[in-house]
Order: sequence, then structure tokens, then C-alpha cells
Amino acid sequence: MRSLLVLVDGLGDDPIPAWDGETPFTRSRHPHMDALVETGALAHVSISGKDVVPGSLTCILRLLGVAKEQFPSNRAYLELLAQGRDISEFEMVLRCNIVSEDEGGRMVSFNGMGLTPRDIEEITAKLGSFSHDIEFLHLSDYRNLLVMTRSDGVLATETAPPHESMGLPLEELLGPLREASLSMRVFMDQADRILEDYSRNGLRYRIYPWGPSCRTELPSFRSLNGRDGALVCQTEIVRGIGHALDMEVPPLEGCTADIDTDIRAKLEATRDMLKKHPFVLAHFNGADEAAHRHDYEGKAAFVARIDREFLGPLLESADEPMRILICGDHVTSSVTGKHTRGGGPVIAAVVPPAAEGSQIPPLRTYRDIIQFITKESEENG
Ligand SMILES: [Zn+2]
Repeated sequence: MRSLLVLVDGLGDDPIPAWDGETPFTRSRHPHMDALVETGALAHVSISGKDVVPGSLTCILRLLGVAKEQFPSNRAYLELLAQGRDISEFEMVLRCNIVSEDEGGRMVSFNGMGLTPRDIEEITAKLGSFSHDIEFLHLSDYRNLLVMTRSDGVLATETAPPHESMGLPLEELLGPLREASLSMRVFMDQADRILEDYSRNGLRYRIYPWGPSCRTELPSFRSLNGRDGALVCQTEIVRGIGHALDMEVPPLEGCTADIDTDIRAKLEATRDMLKKHPFVLAHFNGADEAAHRHDYEGKAAFVARIDREFLGPLLESADEPMRILICGDHVTSSVTGKHTRGGGPVIAAVVPPAAEGSQIPPLRTYRDIIQFITKESEENG
């Protein structure tokens, strides 16, 4: 029997005071989810538990069967994969922010605050074209990657994450990295010279490379779960997970990784993938984004849209029995705007509801979820 995991990023939430303690999930209208609960089960599970960071990278890897000992140490390599790129074992990839410093050399923004989208476009085009040693890859906004020859010195250098280093002197923060590699030092100097043109209001912009990572071998989804899988998703980091686990990750059009995404495009891609693979993960990022903005109404409306525009039509056209599980990866609180380790709703059902042998087992931990979505059904093979 095929399995579909509908992952609504950051689905769980805190009780919303303005709603008398209801959450975006309980508040939103989702008749198709309710019908699944009727014949299946509704549980409350924390995917991160107490032992992993409550983030998409860790929680989604966990749901796909990867043991936490095999988690990549940071995001840069997965973000590279998400760009459809890979590196050899002789290379490495770093994250690279555009930051700003005041006249005293202290970091006042980790995200290029004050630069217009047009500035960013110009800057990243220039930074992407001057060096032959280090490749500069623009992701979005202030976020970029550097790809370069592997250097043990750079890998051993622990540069503090820029968002945790506000107010500290950039020379001290970046000094060890500059010492660790000549080509890095040359690149940083040239990049900073290019950025000088954009100085204003006593602020100077600079690049901030950090979080180096090497090629990380992850086990394939097939080797972990005994079957092939596909991942329908727009969010870069989650697409990277799919590539790293050797899953099919189809291109999507009109998807934005936010609440204005084209749900129909996702529905079509999910239908296609269900024809080819016994397991499909359909990921919806908008709920997490809305909660980060404290927009609990937007989050609830997005859950209702998933129910109406994705789940309804999908269930209507399902011609084969299918296991379906709907959950979040972690809680994103619309109250605090942050991820937490708490539990979130999990819906599990078999469609169409078969008479015998389709009882939903108790869902208490992430292991029960993996077991439910990856096990072969005896009666249907
Ligand atoms: Zn988030």
C-alpha cells in the first residue's frame, strides 16, 4: 500500500490568548482532516522529543528514518544540494552572510540591514564573478554560500554564528578564519572592497563566512525504509534533504514556500509522484512562516486551504488504498514566534477505510509514525 506523509511545517502551536486558548489547528476549518480522524486516529506527538533540536532539518530527517548520529553537523551542505549542486570530498561549503559594522568595527546587523533588494542583486553579481578560487553562490536576501577547496584549517575554525554575535568586533570574530586560509583572506579582502561602495550612515558592509561543512554521506531513503520515495516541496533546505536521501524531488512552479503558495501545483506533483513511488512526502512551509510572524490567523487559514485545496481533491481522486499521515515537524508558536519541543497534532488513517487489518496502531513517538508510513501492508503488498 502506498503512503503519503503530509507535513505541515510548524503545525503545532501554543494556545492563542485571543482565541480563548484555541490553536490555529483547532480553530481552522478542516472537514477532510476531521473525516480522516473519524475513521483513523488523532494523536499528539513531539517529533524532536528531548534529544534533537526542534528544527525542520533535524525533525524531517528523523521522520524519514535517519538516526540522529547521522545528522549533518550544519546546514551549508544541504543548502548546496537544494541548489541542485554537490561537492567532492576535496571541497567544502560555508555559509556566508552580508553583515554590517559601525565605525567602531562592531557588528550591528547580521542580515545586510539597510541594503535594498537592488543593492543585494548588484552586490551578489559582483561577488559571484571576481574570484577563481572561491565560488560565491547567492541563495536569498543576505544568505549565500561559498564553495572552495577543502581546508582542514578552515574546518577546524569555529566562527561564531553571526546572529549570536551582534555588538562584537568583527576583526575578533573573523580573525581566526582569516588566519586559517590564505585564499579565504584574499577573498574576504576583495569582497569587502566591493562592499565599500555601499557604505552609508556610518555603516560598512562586510562578508561573514561561517559554518563550514564537507560532503556528508547520508543513507538513501530506500536503504533506510526498504522502498523508494519522493518529496514534493519548495523549501530549499527540505529539497536538500530529499536530494541527500536520493529521493525524487520534482521541480515545482508557482510555489513560494509560504502561505501564498500554489497548492494546486503541489497537488498535481503529489499525484504524479504517488503513481511512481510507494512513499511520498508533501511539505507545506507556510504554517511555519506565518507562526514566525505571529500571524495565527494566517496559519489557521493556510491549514484550511491545505484541507480544501489539497486533501479534499486528493482523497476524491485516490483510486488505490493508501496510508495517510498528517503532522508537523516541530511546534512553531504564534505567541513567541519560535520553535519549541512541544507536541503537535498527528492524524493517521487508511483510505478508503478498509474493514479489517487497517486499525491504526497507537502513535506515541516519532518511531510509531515512521512505522506507520513505511511499513508494507500485508493485504495489499
Ligand atoms: Zn521555522
